[in-house]
Amino acid sequence: EVNTRTGTYIYSAGNGILSRALSDICSRHDCRNLFVIIDENVHRLHGERLRGIIENRSENFSTFIVPAGESSKSFSEWKRVVDFLLENKVRRNSPVLVIGGGVTGDLGGFAAATALRGVPLYHIPTTLLAMVDSSIGGKTGINHQIGKNLIGSFYQPAGVIADISFLETLPRNEWINGLSEILKYAAISDDEIFRQTGFFLDSSLPYYEHDHDDLISLICTCAEVKIDIVEKDEHERGVRAFLNFGHTFGHALEKECGYKTISHGEAVYLGMLAAQKLSLLTGGDAAGDKLEKYGSLYSYRVDKDALSYERLVAHMKADKKNKNRDIHFVLLDSWQHPVVKTVNKESYLKESWDVVFDRL
Ligand code: NAD
Ligand code: ZN
Repeated sequence: EVNTRTGTYIYSAGNGILSRALSDICSRHDCRNLFVIIDENVHRLHGERLRGIIENRSENFSTFIVPAGESSKSFSEWKRVVDFLLENKVRRNSPVLVIGGGVTGDLGGFAAATALRGVPLYHIPTTLLAMVDSSIGGKTGINHQIGKNLIGSFYQPAGVIADISFLETLPRNEWINGLSEILKYAAISDDEIFRQTGFFLDSSLPYYEHDHDDLISLICTCAEVKIDIVEKDEHERGVRAFLNFGHTFGHALEKECGYKTISHGEAVYLGMLAAQKLSLLTGGDAAGDKLEKYGSLYSYRVDKDALSYERLVAHMKADKKNKNRDIHFVLLDSWQHPVVKTVNKESYLKESWDVVFDRL
C-alpha cells in the first residue's frame, strides 16, 4: 500500500498478475471505455498477448503507441496523447493503462494527470527501472529543450502493476540500467539488496532465467525503499533527495557525454562510485567494494579525451536541485546512512572525478 497525501494505492509485483489486476480495475472504473498508452517495443513484443487479456474485460478499448526513446517525452507527443484521449471521449472514470518503461510512464502519466484535470492512471511498468523506480512516487512529466524533466506534475496513480512476465524480452543493457537504481537503494537504505542482486554477477544465464521468486522479492524490496521515502516526502522537500545518490555526478556526466553516448544507468553507476569517494574524503566511512564489484557489468563508449573536468563541475553547479551556487551532494556517512552535504573543496571534487575518469 502506498499512502500519500493525495491518495492511497496498491503497488503489486508478481508473475502473470495483469489479468487479475485488470478485473480489479474494471470493478472500480468504467471499462466500457478503457485507454491503453503503450511503448512501441512492448506493443510489438507483447501486444497480442495483451490484447487477449484486455479484450476479456473491455469490449471497447483504444490504444496509443508511444515511439520508443527519450525523445517521446516532448510537448508534441504529450499533445498527441491528450488529443487521443479527448477525441476518444475519455471520462473522469475511464481507466488509463500506461504500459512501458519510464519514458512511456512519465509521458502517459502526465497526459493522464492533465486530461480532464486527471483521470485514473494505472502504471504497468515493463522495464526493471520502471518497476523499481519511475512507476512509484507520482512524478510525471516531459522534457524541455533547456533540460530534462522540467515540465510535469506530481500525480499519484490509482495503482501500479509490476508484472515480471514483461521482463522476458528486456534487453540486457536495460537490465543493467535498472541495476544502477537498485544498487542506489542498497547503498542508501537496505544492505540486503546487495545480496539479492548477486545473480547479476552470474553471467551463465540470461537474467530472466534466474529464479522468479528471487526476482520478485528483489523488486518488492526496492519498491518498499522507494515507497517508504515518497510517503515521508511526497514533494521532495527532505528525504526524497536521498534518491539522488550518484545522480549529481551522473547527470553531469550524461550532459557532458551526450545522452546517446552514455546511458543513465552507466552514468549513475559511475556517479555512485564518485559519491562514495567524496563521502570518504569528507569523513564518511562507507568504504569497501560493495558497489565496485559490479564494475565488470558496465562498459563505456565515451571519448575520454573530449571530456572537460571544468565543464563537468560547471554542469554540477547548474543542477536545478542546488540552492545558490553550492553543489549539493547526497553522500554516505556510512552505508545506508545518506546525508546531503555541500562540498566546495576543489581537490575533493577532482579526486572524486578521477575515480570516474579511471574507469572510462
Ligand atoms: P525507456 O522507457 O526508454 O525504456 C527503455 C527501452 O526498453 C525502450 O527502448 C523501450 O522500448 C524498451 N522496453 C521497455 N519495456 C520492454 C520490454 N519489456 N521488453 C523489451 N523492450 C522493452 O527507459 P526506462 O529506463 O524504463 O526509463 C527511463 C525514463 O524514466 C527517463 O525518461 C527518466 O527520466 C524516467 N524516470 C522517471 C522517474 C520518475 O520518478 N517518474 C524516475 C526515474 C526515471
Ligand atoms: Zn536515476
